[in-house]
Amino acid sequence: MAAATWLHSSAPSNALRPFLRRTAALLRPNYRRIHQFTLISPITFSSEKYKPLEPLVRSRARRNLSSMIKDDEVASPDDLHFEGQLKVVEYPDPILRARNKRINSFDDSLKKLADEMFDVMYRTDGIGLSAPQVGINVQLMVFNPVGERGEGEEIVLVNPRVDRYSRKLVLYNEGCLSFPGIYADVERPDSLKVDAQDVAGARFKVNLSGLPARVFQHEYDHLQGILFFDKMSDEVLDSIREDLQAMEKRYEEKTGFPSPERIDARQRRKAAVGFGKS
Ligand SMILES: [Zn+2]
Repeated sequence: MAAATWLHSSAPSNALRPFLRRTAALLRPNYRRIHQFTLISPITFSSEKYKPLEPLVRSRARRNLSSMIKDDEVASPDDLHFEGQLKVVEYPDPILRARNKRINSFDDSLKKLADEMFDVMYRTDGIGLSAPQVGINVQLMVFNPVGERGEGEEIVLVNPRVDRYSRKLVLYNEGCLSFPGIYADVERPDSLKVDAQDVAGARFKVNLSGLPARVFQHEYDHLQGILFFDKMSDEVLDSIREDLQAMEKRYEEKTGFPSPERIDARQRRKAAVGFGKS
């Protein structure tokens, strides 16, 4: 996949992948491999309803985002540097919780990183992937809601921000490449408006709904150091608690260090308070 394709695409290319796997099933009625991302409730996404991402506003030359990045740490060339094949970082590696720096250099190394991230995403059957998931702590995500190379649209989002969320919330059964084999329900807004830059630095706005909105929000959370189980209810979390503990144990055995976080240290959320009913 040439970088030039991204640059000339009508929408930004390359972005979210690893986390939502094969959600393409939702887009193609006959597709049977719905193993990672299953729509649980209300049916808000269908092949009829799905529309490719449409940039609302796309200005090509506004690269000076100094007002936006003033307060954020900016990535250096070293931060984007990698050698060999990228590997998916798994929970509870502290890289997933580290701060992700903003990008203000839109050069070949950024294109190379986005390209490699697409490779990882396709190789692992993902439809979205964030840079910290491959060990690079910068504000970058790639995705293709169809999850197949050469199909759908590859989207790269650099320094994304959310302008607005819908009030409507939907529940999805999410997976994450950093949590292999673990799936559980997460409630999120059904649609949102995003402001970001593409791989060439051009700023754009895009409205996302349904699956693309779901993928974006999962990957956007990664860029804030938030993991999908952080947003699960206690009841849902209980259903994957042992799996998370097993990952913590594996990490300790593999690295020789104590797990940097433990799911059992999470405080249970307070039960919703009723309104006068006993
Ligand atoms: Zn993920």
